[in-house]
Amino acid sequence: MNDAALVYVGLGSNLDDPRRQLLDAMDELDRLPGTRLRRRSSLYRSAPMGPQDQPDFINAVAEIETGLQPEPLLDALQGIEAAHGRVRERRWGPRTLDLDILIYKNEQIRTERLVVPHPGLPRRAFVLYPLAELAPGLTVPGQGRVSDLLAKLDDTAERLEEDAGARAR
Ligand code: AMP
Repeated sequence: MNDAALVYVGLGSNLDDPRRQLLDAMDELDRLPGTRLRRRSSLYRSAPMGPQDQPDFINAVAEIETGLQPEPLLDALQGIEAAHGRVRERRWGPRTLDLDILIYKNEQIRTERLVVPHPGLPRRAFVLYPLAELAPGLTVPGQGRVSDLLAKLDDTAERLEEDAGARAR
């Protein structure tokens, strides 16, 4: 994959065995056409955004290499979400699987369907903690270094100690 793009995908789930949802989704990312899972972060736990009457979220970040262009990659991610039975009921409500394109190479994209880097990235602990585990020195296009963004956060996300993360793959 010579001209493959380096991409960071954010994963989140708070329903139906969230850890299993995330680990299965990592395997499914690895099986997408022209795509390889290079590394994954540990799993993290965080309180839900918005409505609090729902379980905590489990989140992680996957580093993939893909030949898919951004919109076909979004289609593929939405296919994986759908296969996990995701039903969108309310904004920020519970979900079996949420997949976001956090970073696509060094590109800044703004189309009707896609905003990259993901707009929530600079202020979300559940994104920045796992991303910093994989790529602390990475520059988020238009935003600065991951480690600097992390240093500005008040919020935290708890790393699940029993999860060996990328080392166990
Ligand atoms: P959500 O409910 O958070 O999964 O939002 C899904 C919608 O966000 C989809 O319809 C996408 O078209 C849109 N979207 C915009 N930017 C992104 C991105 N970077 N990654 C994933 N979805 C995105």
